Amino acid sequence: MAKKAPLITQKGSVYGYNYPTRVRFGAGVRAELPGVLKSKGLNKVLIVTDKGFAGLPVFQQFESELKSAGLDVKTFSGIWGNPVKSQVTAGTQAAKAHGTQALIAIGGGAALDVGKVIALMMNHPGDLFDYEDGNPSAPPVDKAMPFIVGIPTTAGTGSEVGRSSVVSDDQTHRKVIIFDPRLLPQLVIADPELSLGLPPLMTAATGIDALTHLVEAYLAKGFHPMADGIALEGIKLTAKWLPITYQHAKKNLGKATPEHIEARGMMLNAAMMGAAAFQKGLGVNHSCAHALSTVADLHHGTANGIMLDACMAHNAKAVPERFKEMAHALRLPGGKPAAFLKWVAKLKKQLELPLTLADANVDASKIPALVDVAEKDVCHPSNPVAITRKDFEKLFKASLGKAKKRK
Ligand SMILES: [Zn+2]
Repeated sequence: MAKKAPLITQKGSVYGYNYPTRVRFGAGVRAELPGVLKSKGLNKVLIVTDKGFAGLPVFQQFESELKSAGLDVKTFSGIWGNPVKSQVTAGTQAAKAHGTQALIAIGGGAALDVGKVIALMMNHPGDLFDYEDGNPSAPPVDKAMPFIVGIPTTAGTGSEVGRSSVVSDDQTHRKVIIFDPRLLPQLVIADPELSLGLPPLMTAATGIDALTHLVEAYLAKGFHPMADGIALEGIKLTAKWLPITYQHAKKNLGKATPEHIEARGMMLNAAMMGAAAFQKGLGVNHSCAHALSTVADLHHGTANGIMLDACMAHNAKAVPERFKEMAHALRLPGGKPAAFLKWVAKLKKQLELPLTLADANVDASKIPALVDVAEKDVCHPSNPVAITRKDFEKLFKASLGKAKKRK
């Protein structure tokens, strides 16, 4: 259990590493931030966060610490749910009005994704969606951008170490990927104290999203041994620490026990490793999850969790040796692909997540619309085996049917 491991995230233990960006990691490490900004002469600071986090005492304390250090701080907290373009537009106006020199994106994946593209749109012309990844007539990203600091408060998307943002159209809900190396925050503050109060359900849902990134990156087509290595270690960290994090989230309700801080800290690392690894690609599971968010408004992590059993069983037939490697990494008895699938099912139960589409109130009538969206999604082309329309139908149906087996 946690008590035997070194308590690497106790106060005073701070670690720095540069991969892929500069990361400062440790309990309380956020206290370094005012000094960093002042040393760079960045006085006008815009905090970008979501409505929920902005209302928490931990946020108000964070904001007042920056202000009392003498920085000129404004907060934009007009973010909720899945990120949409109008939030970016409003945030960009706030950033311009303030003359923002440093932009601190703090919160879950939505706040980080929106914050990164607010930084982009501050001095770049045109519409946000002009900068869509793959658009041959996208304007060049060559203007000044504020210094971006990413501070994750959930351990899921790993957007703080990513070079892209996903923002939806307000009306059509079409998801648009904005990609540019300059969206990578220059500094990440990974402070597990900031995620202590994350409710159990969100802890589980964001954690299973991180796991899905790690697994899909490891399985993705293509040659990328660096990503593979990171993914395997991240899977090991998640297997060990996600159940502990969840148990502490339930028991301690935000209290700062050393074990809870350590578990939260390890999950912050696992989430960053997931995002670093999925530079290689994702797969069918994310295409299904994106469809579930678009069509049925499911939380991204919850949707990924529901689809894991069916999608991974499908992939295990195509690339059994990859599943054996994951089973070996976790030292699962037998070391066979089936052992890994069994472990996934057990973890989902431990985390008390919705196990099936029926558990999340999605019924068979939604399947045609889900298949339409999933088929067009950008993630499944890197799945280790090609996914057809029929396959999508089968996977959604399989995830629906298991509801009856639940007690
Ligand atoms: Zn994801």
